Amino acid sequence: MTDLTDPVALASDLIRCPSVTPIEGGALDLLQFWAEQLGFRCTRLSFGEGATSVDNLWAVRGEGGPRFCFAGHTDVVPPGDMDAWQSGPFDPVIADGRLHGRGAADMKGGIAAMVAAVARAGERTPPLAFLITGDEEGQAIHGTKAVLGAVEARGEGFEHCLVGEPTNPDRIGSMMKVGRRGSCNAILTVHGRQGHVAYPDRAENPLPVLQRILTALTDVPLDDGYDRFQPSNLELTGWGTPEGAENVIPASAWTRFNVRFNPNWTGETLVRELERRIATAAGPTQWHLAPRVSGEAFLTEDDRFARLVADAVEAETKVRPELSTSGGTSDARFLSRHAPTIEFGLVGATMHQVNENVAVEDLEALTCIYGRILAGYAAW
Ligand SMILES: [Zn+2]
Repeated sequence: MTDLTDPVALASDLIRCPSVTPIEGGALDLLQFWAEQLGFRCTRLSFGEGATSVDNLWAVRGEGGPRFCFAGHTDVVPPGDMDAWQSGPFDPVIADGRLHGRGAADMKGGIAAMVAAVARAGERTPPLAFLITGDEEGQAIHGTKAVLGAVEARGEGFEHCLVGEPTNPDRIGSMMKVGRRGSCNAILTVHGRQGHVAYPDRAENPLPVLQRILTALTDVPLDDGYDRFQPSNLELTGWGTPEGAENVIPASAWTRFNVRFNPNWTGETLVRELERRIATAAGPTQWHLAPRVSGEAFLTEDDRFARLVADAVEAETKVRPELSTSGGTSDARFLSRHAPTIEFGLVGATMHQVNENVAVEDLEALTCIYGRILAGYAAW
């Protein structure tokens, strides 16, 4: 049996489970086994059907007092180019003081540090929960969001949440996340009338209209930032027309873009602003916008909680972490709707890459940081 106070051994055991989204791969079974050794009451929550079904773990321990939740995911992204891996992605290897394997940073190493911190703390912890999903790297439909729904329906929950995503760009202690931007993907179609290029008066070319719309979408910034957030940004990712010929004015044209937005906007107000700009530029031309908001922006404004985490990080690493809202979306967008949520974990420099790895000493440091957070929270 693996020593539950040893984050390197625990991370290695988890890496051996080939839990590429949405496959459970034995990782949640292992985690449940450890949590039960530590006195947690475990519930497995599965959502979805067949090949897309996803397994999740909800585990609780202790009563009476605010509950602290560790959240994260055991699924990993695919290995990618197998030949480029120096060792197997699911064969953990320690070389030059670093643990190598898929998920070492994102985020089996973080989960190992959570388990080790709880094991080291013994009985001296606040009431605890683990909310661990097998669907973070995929669509995230059957993961954290669904688990939260089930947990709330049972009248359970937690008062504060720490997500163990790898938040540090290059050294442990440098960055924690107290919010994230929202994300909206959209496809815009502009409708014209097909015709011969020699007789443009008998056709309506959608391309000059699209050109005006692209200018209207990108020329004026959406805002100039919000509190700890950078300005919202619209990024074009493609445009074109259906398959055509060189002497034919196309019947339609499309563009695709993503907006990362700060709390100046909700998904709804953002889409309204996009539609306003498009309508003004398009004039009488018909168009259709298909937006998909995959996450709202959030900012954790619980300063006391942020201070508790930052103090723990600084005490261990001698670095005061930056309170950042940068980067892509994470499950914190769901968790933050239930309780104040902060993200802090390992160094993410190699996440999703071949030869993903973390420093062994960082695994130890993160375990100590999580231990300090638990001790501080228990004393609240
Ligand atoms: Zn992750």
